[in-house]
Amino acid sequence: MTADTETPKKRTPRPCPICNKMSVARYHPFCSERCGNIDLHRWLGENYRVPSQEPADFAPEAPLPEDGTED
Ligand SMILES: [Zn+2]
Repeated sequence: MTADTETPKKRTPRPCPICNKMSVARYHPFCSERCGNIDLHRWLGENYRVPSQEPADFAPEAPLPEDGTED
């Protein structure tokens, strides 16, 4: 009768930012501990690496001394 159990405007469950699956409260906001770890590693990785010096947009005049060795 009343749609009280399904209120989309109340606490919208966000999908897992890693795999877009339904997030679980226990591992919020991820769907599982695994995805949580993945995000954690990503976060740490970004922190360890200083993203201020990106050689991607480097000067096109200077040819890279070593290319093809990057993963
Ligand atoms: Zn996930």
